[in-house]
Amino acid sequence: MNKKTLKDINFENKKVIVRLDFNVPIENNKITDDTRIKAALETIKYLQNHNAKIIMLSHLGRIKTEADKKTRSLSLVAKKLQELINHPVIFINETRGKNLETAVNKLKAKDLLLIENTRFEDLNGKKESKNDPELGKYWASLGEVFVNDAFGTAHRAHASNVGIATYIKDSCIGFLIEKELTMLNKVVINPERPFVAILGGAKVSDKIDVIKQLLTKADSVLIGGGMAYTFMKALGYKIGKSLVENDKVDLAKELINLGKDKLVLPVDYIAAPEFKDIKGTNTTDQNIADNLMGLDIGTKTEKLFQDKLKSAKTIVWNGPMGVFEMNNFAHGTKAICEAIANLKNAFSLIGGGDSAAAVTKFHYEKKVSFISTGGGASLEYLEGKDLPGITAIKNKN
Ligand code: AMP
Repeated sequence: MNKKTLKDINFENKKVIVRLDFNVPIENNKITDDTRIKAALETIKYLQNHNAKIIMLSHLGRIKTEADKKTRSLSLVAKKLQELINHPVIFINETRGKNLETAVNKLKAKDLLLIENTRFEDLNGKKESKNDPELGKYWASLGEVFVNDAFGTAHRAHASNVGIATYIKDSCIGFLIEKELTMLNKVVINPERPFVAILGGAKVSDKIDVIKQLLTKADSVLIGGGMAYTFMKALGYKIGKSLVENDKVDLAKELINLGKDKLVLPVDYIAAPEFKDIKGTNTTDQNIADNLMGLDIGTKTEKLFQDKLKSAKTIVWNGPMGVFEMNNFAHGTKAICEAIANLKNAFSLIGGGDSAAAVTKFHYEKKVSFISTGGGASLEYLEGKDLPGITAIKNKN
């Protein structure tokens, strides 16, 4: 890796701006999953141990109206972080201005300051999300060094990552991004074979590029979830009321031709008359009756996928096999968790988003090698795309 890392920079008494991913789920004024805050601790502690004055930034959800600000403040994150790190966190409930500047100038070594949700700036002409140069320059002016450790937004060029990196003298990636890249590179660069990719989730359109890329790299690409039905339609099977993207059927045909034997599609399904958590029926083959919709892979497909996974040495998984949020349609996704958990001496990478949620929900998180904290970012990296949030960081000399 040619990007500067934390070890390449002297932080002693410097004002250090750190972009973290504190985009945590909040329900009824409570953080329901603090994984992302915990994932940031290693970098924050390192900076404290090296006597930095720490100025932290993150986004939280999307801000489209003034009312969104009420439920998307980082104040709860500041409290949670304070608890987890056992050190006071100064929270500034603004994204710019005199209060912030005064507080920054008063910082001493090891102090922690958190700025309000960067996307509050989106209310005013989408300044954060459109990487407004004035905003990037302003945030950069608050410190001397920039650390980007927000992997979840690395595939976006925003003011709080690319903007700051552009206007500051020195910059590096944090421990989390370093780890994510190391893990992703085990899949991208010379993966141990057999290399099996499993793709699922709702839509083919979100994953076309990654399917194409993986068909050239992996030994098998297993397709499940809602996206499978567009492929089945392309092959001429009956798909009933299942999820389908009619405008992507031709593209699915193209992928089928490209993939040949590498592309492995379901051979049966669990189908139900409506999108509800009710008991479904296992179809006898690939066809689904007109009054039914496929909501999970069937038992024969589970077995087929498990067989493909048995000898795998590298696995990458993105997207559930069915509507795993409903108990009646979670079996296929659990079967994949189980198959990965049973592997010995294999490297398994779970690509964030819903498959990460499924692995955690079914308690397999300790049985996989790595769960990425960024669904979109990890997909784009697997597609072979540049991640602008990382590209903008200084190279090692
Ligand atoms: P994605 O964000 O594209 O990975 O999609 C994840 C979502 O796809 C989950 O919420 C699943 O419930 C949903 N999903 C998986 N399989 C199906 C299916 N057969 N029909 C409808 N939705 C599905």
